[in-house]
Amino acid sequence: MKPAPFAYTRARTLKEAIALIGKHRGDARLLAGGQSLIASLNMRLSAPDLLIDINGIKGLDRIAKKGKFVEIGALARHTAVERSKLIAQYAPLIARAMPHIGHPAIRNRGTFGGSIAFADPAAELPACLVALNGEIEIAGARGKRKVKADAFFKGLFETALKPREVLTAVRVPAADKATRVGFAELARRHGDYAMVGLAASARATAKGLTDVRLAFFGVGDKPVRAPKAENALTRGDVDGAVAALDLDPPDDVQATGAVKKHLAGVLLRRVAKQLMEGR
Ligand SMILES: Cc1cc2nc3c(=O)[nH]c(=O)nc-3n(C[C@H](O)[C@H](O)[C@H](O)COP(=O)(O)OP(=O)(O)OC[C@H]3O[C@@H](n4cnc5c(N)ncnc54)[C@H](O)[C@@H]3O)c2cc1C
Repeated sequence: MKPAPFAYTRARTLKEAIALIGKHRGDARLLAGGQSLIASLNMRLSAPDLLIDINGIKGLDRIAKKGKFVEIGALARHTAVERSKLIAQYAPLIARAMPHIGHPAIRNRGTFGGSIAFADPAAELPACLVALNGEIEIAGARGKRKVKADAFFKGLFETALKPREVLTAVRVPAADKATRVGFAELARRHGDYAMVGLAASARATAKGLTDVRLAFFGVGDKPVRAPKAENALTRGDVDGAVAALDLDPPDDVQATGAVKKHLAGVLLRRVAKQLMEGR
């Protein structure tokens, strides 16, 4: 299928992008990597009358360590994040997740900010941000604001972003010696969106794990935490964590909810091992 007709313009600066989207009275969308947006236009799932291309905004693709945080600019391509030594050292959970996102052609164009703004409930990066207790920086006509990942993802493809705002960057705590991370997903074919996935972080102490954060994806309308399982893992009780998994995944085209819940338990055992052994 072909998209409905739309106008196209390019923003050269963040200020220009905010002004363009602010003054447009119809349905305008920002165009980043286009890997999700163009497909939805082609399938006529959406029909904006204006696309504002933000790819020319300089500096929005920066990946940097800022004090105790790692900042990833909205326009950082998945490939750049995947290959970044800084990400490998200071955001190892994100480094582990990257190869699971689609295929190289998609990762060459797709952007970190696009994935977070799109908020597919089966996507890896939203769950990583929730597991890392990250925050999202948003710019609009009234300036910048920050939203914690737990509050940013609101529902199916729904976020705290308002229609005339631009997601500019995400920030996650920089990993140190005590940081533990775990990641696993099950997909029918490598590169497909996950049937079920799990991103996790914790801190290692002499007594075991603390600050365990489990963020499942593909099991609900947004990344889903599992507080009872987190508490059980803090006690070192993996069987208890699996038994306490209070997920209620809906059936979808990939599997029934019951199958997904069983798979979530399988992934939890794998990820618990990674967290406990620090591998
Ligand atoms: C075949 C295929 C397989 C894929 N598999 C996976 C997968 O396994 N896992 C996965 O996570 N993803 C997958 N993707 C999606 C891919 O990761 C996309 O790159 C991502 O979802 C969107 O990023 P984008 O830069 O392409 O955004 P776009 O498609 O350009 O935009 C997506 C949406 O976000 C908005 N947006 C983009 N940037 C901003 C911003 N800075 N501020 C505010 N709003 C913004 C746009 O207006 C649009 O509504 C797949 C895509 C394809 C085509």
